[in-house]
Amino acid sequence: MEHKALKDYMRKMNDFEHAMTLIGWDLKTGMPPRGADGHISALTTLSSEIFRMTTSEELKGYIEEVKASKTIYDEITIGSVRKLERNYEQIKNMPEKFYVDYVELTAKAEHVWEAAKQNNDWKGFEPYLEELVKMSEERAYYINPQKPVYDVLLDEYEPGMTGNEIDTLFTTLKNSIVPLVEAIKEQKREEYRGFKGTFSKEMQKEAAEYLLDYIGFNKLAGRLDESEHPFTTGKAPDDVRITTHYIEEDAMSSIFSVLHEGGHAIYEQNIHPRFKGTVLADGSSMGIHESQSRFYENIIGRNKAFWLPIYKDLQGIITPYKNMSLEEFYRGINKVEPSLIRVEADELTYNLHIILRFELERELFTGQLAVKDLREAWQDKMKKYLGVVPQTDAEGVLQDVHWAGGCFGYFPTYALGNIYGAQFKKALEKEKGDISTLLMEGKIGEITAWLKEHIHQCGSLKLSQEIIAESCGTGVNAAPLIEYYHQKYRALYNL
Ligand code: ZN
Repeated sequence: MEHKALKDYMRKMNDFEHAMTLIGWDLKTGMPPRGADGHISALTTLSSEIFRMTTSEELKGYIEEVKASKTIYDEITIGSVRKLERNYEQIKNMPEKFYVDYVELTAKAEHVWEAAKQNNDWKGFEPYLEELVKMSEERAYYINPQKPVYDVLLDEYEPGMTGNEIDTLFTTLKNSIVPLVEAIKEQKREEYRGFKGTFSKEMQKEAAEYLLDYIGFNKLAGRLDESEHPFTTGKAPDDVRITTHYIEEDAMSSIFSVLHEGGHAIYEQNIHPRFKGTVLADGSSMGIHESQSRFYENIIGRNKAFWLPIYKDLQGIITPYKNMSLEEFYRGINKVEPSLIRVEADELTYNLHIILRFELERELFTGQLAVKDLREAWQDKMKKYLGVVPQTDAEGVLQDVHWAGGCFGYFPTYALGNIYGAQFKKALEKEKGDISTLLMEGKIGEITAWLKEHIHQCGSLKLSQEIIAESCGTGVNAAPLIEYYHQKYRALYNL
């Protein structure tokens, strides 16, 4: 049985979020320059209304009623209550003054960070980061004083996962990737000249639309626009919007952004319509979301078999590629090279950028590392894991916005996404056969159908650990990812 009053309440919250999402999207895409003030004001009003609704006595009453009742409620009511209660627990003990101060600090710190990054001014940002760590500790205490601080922070992005668990997964991954990257580095470096050229925006847009159609992005329930940084937003499942950016001298950047954001979007579009208007019409966790975007970007998009049926079409659109063989293209998009910047890293070394950030941020909250020593610790780990050391803070400790926004515990979800994705690949292959064979035959729809059945359609009814247990029959485990990397890169680099 459903709980009618709770359902109506969620529908109202959902409508406020719907409006916020569209205003937020417009702010970053097509808004005229003078529209910003009005947009921001509307967003502030709507978000404080949602905050009020998330913590109201009325909602608390519904949650308690459902939990205490002998009535057998349907899956959607039970799942929604579990999620709403989790959100409620996050804020129920937080003094309003603290909450306001915290939001203010993150806004200020992001602003300071922007200037600090531009001017390579670590010292200018350091006191803000110190304050952010302190306030995050306090915040974690209000949420759950019994759990380790870092685990509480992690819970916001990957519910149910702990720092210890991630540490075990990442240590296994690191111990396997570092030597693999070392071995690759010793190989002769190849130049891929075929990728050079001038690529008009029209050409890149045509390729983006073509690829979105090919991978199954539904344009009746989504659209593609342009923004400075690519992102996915919208209201699942019927209106999911993605963006990309077109760089004139590099067509690859948009192509892989589109495959990545397209993966996020296909996930959201495939959420079962029965969750519409509830808090469950959403992805399960950040890690699961990243597992889907990275599945399309890397496991599918960097597989030669994916391009085999469509490479001629791509060459017809991106005409400067017409003399580049598929083999050169494939090697070029899988070139491994340790570098300084996370967002520009290749599929393999990307994980090391994440592991480094996870280890450092966790140490900040276990007392093993002080903010004043963070910059040196960053340099040391870069040298140890990647063999390169940043010369400037903009290329080092100041490169990402996450910490400035108080988002501690966010970084690991990217590499967890890689781990989950390889587990899904293994489970899918057990049922449907080799992914490369399916791709070669143009049967990408069968791959998406499997992902939809096991992951997409559940929305956030299940936690990531539950999805993995049910679809893969195991716990979270890094072995399939390690196996996938070794197979792929040993073949590519003749190791
Ligand atoms: Zn993503």
